[in-house]
Amino acid sequence: MKDENFLKERNARSIWHPMAHPADSQKNLPEIIVAGDGVTITDVDGHKAVDGVGGLWNVNLGFSCQPVKDAIAAQLDRLPYYSIFRGTTNDAVIELGEMLAEFFAPDGLERAFYTSGGSDSVEIALRLARQYHKVRGEAGRVKYLSLKKGYHGTHTLGASVNGNANFRTQYEPLMPGCYHIPAPYTYRNPFNETDPEKLAQLCLAALEDEIKFQGAETIAAMIMEPILGAGGVIVPHESFMPGVRAICDKYGILLIADEVITAFGRTGAWSGSRLWGVQPDMMTTAKAITNGYFPFGAVMISGRVAEVFESDTSGKAAIGSGYTYSGHPVGAAAAIACLKETQALNVKDNAAARGTQLHEGLLALQEKHDIVGDVRGGRGLMCALELVSDRATKAPIDKASIAKVHRGAYETGAMVRVSGNNVILSPSLIVTEGNIATILNALDAGLAAV
Ligand code: PLP
Repeated sequence: MKDENFLKERNARSIWHPMAHPADSQKNLPEIIVAGDGVTITDVDGHKAVDGVGGLWNVNLGFSCQPVKDAIAAQLDRLPYYSIFRGTTNDAVIELGEMLAEFFAPDGLERAFYTSGGSDSVEIALRLARQYHKVRGEAGRVKYLSLKKGYHGTHTLGASVNGNANFRTQYEPLMPGCYHIPAPYTYRNPFNETDPEKLAQLCLAALEDEIKFQGAETIAAMIMEPILGAGGVIVPHESFMPGVRAICDKYGILLIADEVITAFGRTGAWSGSRLWGVQPDMMTTAKAITNGYFPFGAVMISGRVAEVFESDTSGKAAIGSGYTYSGHPVGAAAAIACLKETQALNVKDNAAARGTQLHEGLLALQEKHDIVGDVRGGRGLMCALELVSDRATKAPIDKASIAKVHRGAYETGAMVRVSGNNVILSPSLIVTEGNIATILNALDAGLAAV
């Protein structure tokens, strides 16, 4: 115990944590996680907990996925790094590119542009959207549309389309030309509409209104998550994303599906776009592409968009973007193994079944605990509880109380994630019925602690 506290003090003195006040880790000492096995994590004290977060929505196959570990080790041995900038490539990225094209063929996606993570994927997709219009001679299409509550990473373009003030205001001025549409968030919305279908229609009308106001000829792309993740697992009505697709088509605007969380089975479908029956023009991926074991991502590009770039003879389609680690062979090898295992285990079906169990369990907790204002999920293994101090006014619960929920759950056997007044649940897609029961039982104890 003494050693553990000493480690925590060293942590507070030596590092700053992402998405936290720099002094926070001095007051609220973080858990020091030292091991992961299956879907269970162990801290420095030897305490074990089922990971209800799946790392950070990325460890879809758990912590013991041997084929991915072996693939990383073998690739490190053979070719630990070489760049794929013009003039060189490697066998791992080629094999992965073909596998991704096959996997995402039902989404109409044919080409991969590799990145080092989700924020990088968003940056590339937004850049490519502007470039697409320039290649086509519509250089005036430079603006972006996105959803309030959406999360698109940490780079300045991503922050500019982010729909949460917490990730924006400290860094303003951000990129001009980014406009935000109300999200189909039934619990709180400017229309006071609680019916999901009617709310979807109102949000779609707001989108079309904004396009007309800005002038369609000035807009490059709309970026959206098929299910909003970090914003608190906002699951739109099934008519919403197809409605966005139709509006984008009507006005010549590209649709970028940000699937950094939703791709590879988390929603109970192989992609969030497929869940809603939509083919995006581009799709951003990262996280589970390597099961979280290696920083890696890919922007998938549709045949229609690829055709415009590849048939260009003016030189405008030359891509002036790329990362040293774009197409990292170790990341590509990890992703190949991960994709094979993801399909062999057919994790999407387990995600759907266990997601239903989790969602139903959370609804039962809402009956029991007054502080649960809203329960969201029901589409795979992405769920959230929104905690309030008063159900009538929906006033968000205070930070100290939500910290108690987190601590109570952890001590009882499950790690959950707190984000604002939301408790987020996104376990690995290989969880069992028993694991979900453990998570629910721990949450029950955490909620009772308030
Ligand atoms: N886009 C979405 C939808 C995300 O959820 C995230 C991260 O959670 C990102 C982009 C950024 O990804 P990364 O943290 O890998 O940069």
